[in-house]
Amino acid sequence: MTITYEYEDALYVNLTNKCNCNCEFCLRHGRAQGSIYTEDSLWLEREPTRQEALDSFLSRDVCSYREIVFCGYGEPTYRLDDILWLVDELKGRFGDKLPPVRINTNGHANLILGRDVCPELKGRIDTLSISLNSDNAADYTALCHPVQGEAAYQAMLDFAGEAKHYVPHVVLTIVDKDKTQEEIQNCRDIADRLGVKLRIRSFIDS
Ligand code: SF4
Repeated sequence: MTITYEYEDALYVNLTNKCNCNCEFCLRHGRAQGSIYTEDSLWLEREPTRQEALDSFLSRDVCSYREIVFCGYGEPTYRLDDILWLVDELKGRFGDKLPPVRINTNGHANLILGRDVCPELKGRIDTLSISLNSDNAADYTALCHPVQGEAAYQAMLDFAGEAKHYVPHVVLTIVDKDKTQEEIQNCRDIADRLGVKLRIRSFIDS
């Protein structure tokens, strides 16, 4: 079972395969050559406990990485309580030497957990990379199929706008594949309105 794995000098963490979306482009649907997601081992036979995850961290030279990234084959914020516990444990051991911590997320933590988690991120999470995916709720829903329907789009935007008060770097991401220049500009405008950054990434990326 792969809990932590290295990719481009960062340490990635895989705690769950659960997700409330079923994105058309999700790399869980198949192998993508050259991607960090090609490993079958990222499918967990069961979710690791927080202690198993901590042990996996401590088996490595944690402070040698440029970043710690909670990501994986699913939506990591299903395990947000455990992520925050792990960050606290690691900060307790390594203090300021701990590399910056990022969560790659669909931005639905508040929907999934039924509370505003943003204040809990303060001092623990350095970067939130949130998948924007589309400039409107209808296309987003058709692309990502969130179980909450179109409401998930606005919930994601609200999460980004709220999180920026607690997390130093909040970044909305879109994939350049199949996006027009107009759609990309609309996404830039959305990020500007929210006061966060937009990152345009290629189809296979971190
Ligand atoms: S949110 Fe991420 S893990 Fe979930 S279905 Fe979409 S791409 Fe896959």
